[in-house]
Amino acid sequence: MIRPNGVAARTLKSSCRSLSTSCRSALARPESSIAAQKQTRSLHSANSWASAAAAAFKRTYTQPEPSTSADNAPPARDHGLPVSRIDERKVVVGFETGEWAKYHHMWLRDHCRCPECFHPVTKQRLLNTFDIPPDIKPVKVESTAEGLEVHWPSSVSHTSLYPWDWLRQHSYDPPLQTHDSSSDHSHILWGSKIQQAPPTVSYEEVMSPDERGLYKWLTNVDKFGFSFVSGVPATTEATEELSTRIGFIRETHYGKFWDFTADLTRGDTAYTNMALGAHTDNTYFTDPCGLQLFHLLEHSEGTGGATLLVDGFYVASILQELYPAAYATLARIGVPAHAAGEPGTLYTPFPTTAYPVLREHGGALVQVRWNNDDRSTMHHLSAAEMGEWYDAARLWHKLLTSADSEYWVQLAPGTAVVVNNHRVLHGRSAFTGRRRMCGAYIGGDEYRSRLAVLTEKFAGQDPAAHPAAVLPPKERSVWSPLL
Ligand SMILES: [Zn+2]
Repeated sequence: MIRPNGVAARTLKSSCRSLSTSCRSALARPESSIAAQKQTRSLHSANSWASAAAAAFKRTYTQPEPSTSADNAPPARDHGLPVSRIDERKVVVGFETGEWAKYHHMWLRDHCRCPECFHPVTKQRLLNTFDIPPDIKPVKVESTAEGLEVHWPSSVSHTSLYPWDWLRQHSYDPPLQTHDSSSDHSHILWGSKIQQAPPTVSYEEVMSPDERGLYKWLTNVDKFGFSFVSGVPATTEATEELSTRIGFIRETHYGKFWDFTADLTRGDTAYTNMALGAHTDNTYFTDPCGLQLFHLLEHSEGTGGATLLVDGFYVASILQELYPAAYATLARIGVPAHAAGEPGTLYTPFPTTAYPVLREHGGALVQVRWNNDDRSTMHHLSAAEMGEWYDAARLWHKLLTSADSEYWVQLAPGTAVVVNNHRVLHGRSAFTGRRRMCGAYIGGDEYRSRLAVLTEKFAGQDPAAHPAAVLPPKERSVWSPLL
């Protein structure tokens, strides 16, 4: 996650530092070619102690010892490939970067992705993991240009090939790359100043068959937790089509695609003209909807009804910095909630007190769940915890409603907005007159699937290079980092 000021500044500083180091060494390079060679050699031996060691063990374990070499330079790696050797329980790989990673024999055999072990079309495991002897050990490993080749013993004779990139991406002992997408660095936290340049794409772009505009839209949602779409025809049909561009609409007790006014046709304050404080929807569901799209179709004969958006991740980051104990309380204590305004339904999450305001995973915030109006009776806490929770919630509310956090915008017909309901809170001011809204809930899994497919299609491509081209679908590799 990128903090608006502090962290970005630190990152900048450290990149400056590495820049100046490389500048220094470039400047210090001697002019004479012999001296330059020496310099290069000593840089290599100093920086790549691991590669020297790697080459040495490769000699020991996988190749006969070469005859005594005339010079004392560190032995070069064969063809610049990573090196590998077999340990008692693991295969050790030394990458060109000088980093090491170990992989259990069992893990490697289990992750073979040859067509016998992994279905190339369905991308499902065909191998029965529990047929693999627990003490399986390769008879030979080889570094090839394609990847690590592992030969398994003859009782279960088999050869597996693992691409180097894939091994690096999935390294775990130690992890050489972050695996958890929830803790990626794609989030940009924002406060009220987002009003200067809110993330926006045009309807025309989003609906274009090349899907580049759709990718841009969903990338905005991924980074900022919301994005406007401008130039949407002010009709329910066009808005519904826009919603399904992302994925399936999630039908709830409010219906599938909503088209509503302040007439209390549903037993919820959304269907009144009252002000609504910043909240997330569906705190009363075990799995609150992922995205919410809404579009103001009409507001006549009245005033008010401004839309409020607040970045819950931004507010949580400030809470954590200023009041870490309060943050910890809101991340620990579950809050019960209900939707009970209609005689035919009574929703509560299961288990009722399992879901805190701030849900963390692996030390990173992954979900904000906050609707103070829908909170049920608090009776599941000790006396001490009860006081602690109210104190923490008060601080959270204070930061959530501060001018620095609140982004107010007066929507008009033609501009739809999609919000990540697990991150960005929404609300509105009270209004008079006739105000007609439409919109839908879209599944979070559907959204992330769509974004993953578009990322497969477009990531690493320069949009300027092929402006209007409709790209042919790429075949998904069995080595996709997400599988
Ligand atoms: Zn296999």
